[in-house]
Amino acid sequence: MDLRGPAGLPTVAPTMIVEPKIRGFICTTAHPDGCAKHVTDQIALVRSRGPIEGGPKKVLVVGSSTGYGLSSRIAAAFGCGAATMGVFFEKPGDEKRTGTAGWYNSAAFEKEAQAAGLYARSFNGDAFSDEMKQTVIDAIKADLGQVDGVIYSLASPRRTHPKTGEVFKSCLKPIGRSYTNKNLNTSNHVVDEVTIEPASEDDIAQTVAVMGGEDWEMWIDALKEAGVLAEGVTTVAYSYIGPEVTWPIYKDGTIGTAKIDLERAQRALDDKLSELGGKAWVSVNKALVTQASSAIPVVPLYISLLYKVMKAKGTHEDTIEQMDRLFRDRLYGKADPQPDDEGRIRVDDWEMEADVQQAVDEAWRQVDSANLKQLADVEGYESSFLRLFGFGLENVDYSAETDPAIGVPSLS
Ligand code: NAD
Repeated sequence: MDLRGPAGLPTVAPTMIVEPKIRGFICTTAHPDGCAKHVTDQIALVRSRGPIEGGPKKVLVVGSSTGYGLSSRIAAAFGCGAATMGVFFEKPGDEKRTGTAGWYNSAAFEKEAQAAGLYARSFNGDAFSDEMKQTVIDAIKADLGQVDGVIYSLASPRRTHPKTGEVFKSCLKPIGRSYTNKNLNTSNHVVDEVTIEPASEDDIAQTVAVMGGEDWEMWIDALKEAGVLAEGVTTVAYSYIGPEVTWPIYKDGTIGTAKIDLERAQRALDDKLSELGGKAWVSVNKALVTQASSAIPVVPLYISLLYKVMKAKGTHEDTIEQMDRLFRDRLYGKADPQPDDEGRIRVDDWEMEADVQQAVDEAWRQVDSANLKQLADVEGYESSFLRLFGFGLENVDYSAETDPAIGVPSLS
């Protein structure tokens, strides 16, 4: 509702009561105040652990509005005290419909950064394009001079190639043969079976073009060529490996092939950055509920079983605990990266602990619709999913009218 006042009177902001509207594995509404609370909770967690010594001071986060990228931006700003630039692809709200969660998250992040005296600037548009890279480079030159950290955390279903204009679509399919396994239907809590047909060569190539390392390389090449990477710059991109039960659909599937290409890019970037005394990393992160992961077949059931086991053991983490640990214990200051044999950082270490995996594996074999609630943390899965869209957070008045058209300060 637009409550525009008569001429001469101040305009009243449009307001509405926002409720979750779930369609399959996506929620089509987001709550501005709930998203803000989600962001301030994450900031509070990082602050409660104290400053991260030796961290970067000027950080670019590509894919900064939700999931791992948002938590990385929060760890950089509120842990390391860094100035941050964030790039994302989100929609603002208007008087008729809410914006996307990433829009509200970014609005809240900037507000909190400003209050803490931290520089924050955001860019909304296609990170795969040459135009966005140039816009960000110009902004770095104008505002920061150089950056000493670049986080690459994009998850996208498609990419328009900046040189050829070709549109690639990523898919989640096994390679070589079809894959059948248990699957949680999150809308009716039925454990059924899903069969996914194998990918074609074209499916594989398209997924690598979207989720592989080429765009990360293009970003770092463009930033380096423009002279906006500082001595000792660190860049990190994120990957996942997970347990054998998900390998046909993840590690050995189309997305896993794209992640192998991400590791190829990491080695190439590591070489290129050595002349700046810089370093490129791939960090393998934990399976968590994000907008990207909830769309992967089989993964929601695995995550629900995993949450149950890790919560019982006291090792459960969300994206913010993961990213805080990555920055604090692996990347910066006196941190020890503890790379694996392939040179990857492993903050999926607690997920992959033998006793955790054994317990999940046993539960996986037993789980069906009847025992789902005992074996799996379905409630935890669902509340994590809703929190991504700003619902179910403490101390948010969901019965109150709220302004869906709030802006991201640097984009207003
Ligand atoms: P997410 O969906 O929460 O975040 C994706 C981000 O990319 C958002 O900020 C979105 O706005 C941005 N984005 C997408 N397309 C864009 C475009 N064209 N231009 C600009 N921005 C765009 O995803 P996530 O789960 O946090 O995934 C981030 C990375 O972490 C991915 O590489 C993913 O594979 C990896 N990862 C995820 C998990 C998991 O369980 N979720 C585990 C390990 C690693």
